Amino acid sequence: MNKLKDTFGRKFPYIRLSITDICNYKCTYCLPQGYKKTPGDMRSFMTAEEISRLTKALAELGVCKIRLTGGEPTVRKDFFDILKDMKQNSNIPKITMTTNGYRLDKIAKQLHEVGLDGINISIDSLNRETFKKLTGHDRLPEILEGIKILQKLNFKNIKVNAVLLRGINDSHKEFEKFGNFIKDNKIDFRFIELMQTGDNLDYFKKNHVSSKIFKDYLEKNNWVYQTYGKDAGPALNFIHPEYKGKFGLIAPYSKDFCKTCNSLRVTSRGDLRLCLFGNTGISIRHLLQNNDQKEELIDLITKQLHLKKESHYLELGDTGITKNLSTTGG
Ligand code: SAM
Repeated sequence: MNKLKDTFGRKFPYIRLSITDICNYKCTYCLPQGYKKTPGDMRSFMTAEEISRLTKALAELGVCKIRLTGGEPTVRKDFFDILKDMKQNSNIPKITMTTNGYRLDKIAKQLHEVGLDGINISIDSLNRETFKKLTGHDRLPEILEGIKILQKLNFKNIKVNAVLLRGINDSHKEFEKFGNFIKDNKIDFRFIELMQTGDNLDYFKKNHVSSKIFKDYLEKNNWVYQTYGKDAGPALNFIHPEYKGKFGLIAPYSKDFCKTCNSLRVTSRGDLRLCLFGNTGISIRHLLQNNDQKEELIDLITKQLHLKKESHYLELGDTGITKNLSTTGG
């Protein structure tokens, strides 16, 4: 039974758990200069043990899905230990992750063996040069190879996310390229509308495009809107009889986006965040120090949920305390 409910009747079966702020990519909209430690912030990332305690408490609260994110989760040396512990000891039915695909060709088999239940891979362009310019890394071929390996292993839940960017991937030609990719590939491809964060205002002004252009494209090309799955989150999904994969859209600026919010976040330093863009966040780390604290932790998380607001106020330019998404895991 899901015990995580807010005062607006929303339920939260889904947690996004950041395990590091560190990212090895330099995505132009997120960390264009690469990851740098915030001056003065001496707090370490949660240890594997702390994460393990947290996960067990979340299971008791009825959480049915945890998505590991970052930063880039795979840069943590103990990434596989954390994942293995969650799969074997937590009782959470689905453990998934979001990754930039770093070394995916090398780790695909291990991900499958550990029993990862789903993977979201960020690929903003299927053009190798553009990908390199956007991320600072010439790694598109190894990511695509990693996807092929996962598919050969019959790994089921593969999603590819791209941030919609003006002049880069927002033309019909680019949409068709992504369409060709999912035509015979059972992969969900979703565009995320670029979000304004504390660090990227100029970039946002230059590069933000409304996701409406993609929605219009889908409707014109006979893609049919599909209703949500139970823990699907705020993506709008579209299907087409001639395509094995689905197209999707994550539009944080749309009017009703927050109504479908079903996730809470825990940052890599152990802060519970009620909204990606909210100003509310408290540390729960002091209650991750020994196994006897589980009841107290559960109580604190449940009480905090009552503070969750109805909506972020992103459309009014209120980015809360989010400097860039590497700190809260996008
Ligand atoms: N490193 C992993 C990755 O690349 O997927 C996980 C963390 S990353 C912050 C999660 C997602 O957030 C990525 O798909 C990324 O493209 C997206 N993202 C980062 N900054 C964003 C922004 N300002 N607006 C929209 N999406 C953003």
